[in-house]
Amino acid sequence: MGALAAEPVLTVRDLVVHYHTPRGPIKAVEHVSFDVYKGERFGLVGESGCGKSTTAMALLRLIKPPGRIETGEVRLEGRDLLTLKPDELRTLRWRDLSLIPQGAMNSLNPVMRIREQIEDVIICHEGRPSPAELAERVHKLLNMVGLPRRVTTMYPHELSGGMKQRVCIAMAIALNPKLVIADELTSALDVVVQRVVIQTLMEVQERLGTSLIVIGHDMGLQAQLVDRLAVMYAGRIAEIADAITIFEQPLHPYTRLLIASVPSTKEKKPLQAIPGLPPTLLNPPPGCAFHPRCPAAFERCAVEVPRLQEVAPKHQVACHLFSERIS
Ligand code: SF4
Repeated sequence: MGALAAEPVLTVRDLVVHYHTPRGPIKAVEHVSFDVYKGERFGLVGESGCGKSTTAMALLRLIKPPGRIETGEVRLEGRDLLTLKPDELRTLRWRDLSLIPQGAMNSLNPVMRIREQIEDVIICHEGRPSPAELAERVHKLLNMVGLPRRVTTMYPHELSGGMKQRVCIAMAIALNPKLVIADELTSALDVVVQRVVIQTLMEVQERLGTSLIVIGHDMGLQAQLVDRLAVMYAGRIAEIADAITIFEQPLHPYTRLLIASVPSTKEKKPLQAIPGLPPTLLNPPPGCAFHPRCPAAFERCAVEVPRLQEVAPKHQVACHLFSERIS
């Protein structure tokens, strides 16, 4: 994607999501803000439990009790998604905003043929077109994701993991949404199939001009995929910049360690692990949640939460090494 379109398709501001447990709230998402532009591929990356999937679920208002969206604003082309009524939300999902959930291929209905499952999405939102038109649309969608016509009459168990994942992509783009969220799209696939599925998603996204949020824990994979990247840690965004800047000039100590932990085929270097474990979000460390693991931590880090701020054009970092004191 070239220069970013001026107006974002999606605006997320100050999003807070907590899971309420008898032991207290699990602060899964804390004051997360970002924009996604038209036709952009935006990555959300971080270790397991950092809040990236909860963020995706919150965008779609799919947080279930004991989870709750506490505050925030989520706007899709100006419409505030957090205040929509349930029937308005139902209309919006798939048509304007669709999700390829984690383990999507296992979410296909095992007793329905692939054709019927894709048809369901179309009929539910647009009413029933003529049988010929419906068949043509299903074939076109399967063709777009590189699947042959014969797949229409097959059941999910007759398909490989990669094929099922491509069916899920076909369903997600069936109504040509403005934004698709892909959550850990390839986590259950081997590396060869991963490449095919990723390639398919990229080609489809480019062809349709849809905006895309790619959620994952694999920095190497994100590097090949996205235009811009947000690194999350303990429910907060640590750094946002275009992907090249993040990989060539990472600023946040956590981002640097994440990149150092990616194996390289070009240079022989020992793999670097990030010391320690991600914190529990029930009782995260005070100040910067990364401070117990951070090689650059200093006194202030243990007492004050760093604010995400722009330190260079379109490069935001939440770290006291770069921040002014918050008044
Ligand atoms: Fe490390 Fe402090 Fe920056 Fe947190 S704020 S990443 S602890 S230097």
